[in-house]
Amino acid sequence: MAAKKDRIVIHLACTGCKERNYTTSKNKRNDPARLEFKKYCRRERKVMLHRETK
Ligand SMILES: [Zn+2]
Repeated sequence: MAAKKDRIVIHLACTGCKERNYTTSKNKRNDPARLEFKKYCRRERKVMLHRETK
C-alpha cells in the first residue's frame, strides 16, 4: 500500500501570466510528472493551461 505521504499538495500556475490560481493534491507515485490542467484564469478572463508548481 502507498504511504499517506505520497499524496502531496501542489499549486497550479497559469502558463500565461504565472498567477497561481489553484491548489490541488496528487499522488506523486501515480503522477511523477508535472500535471497540466486547462482551467479558467481570473486575471486573463479566459481558459488557460495551468501547470503544477511548488
Ligand atoms: Zn493567466
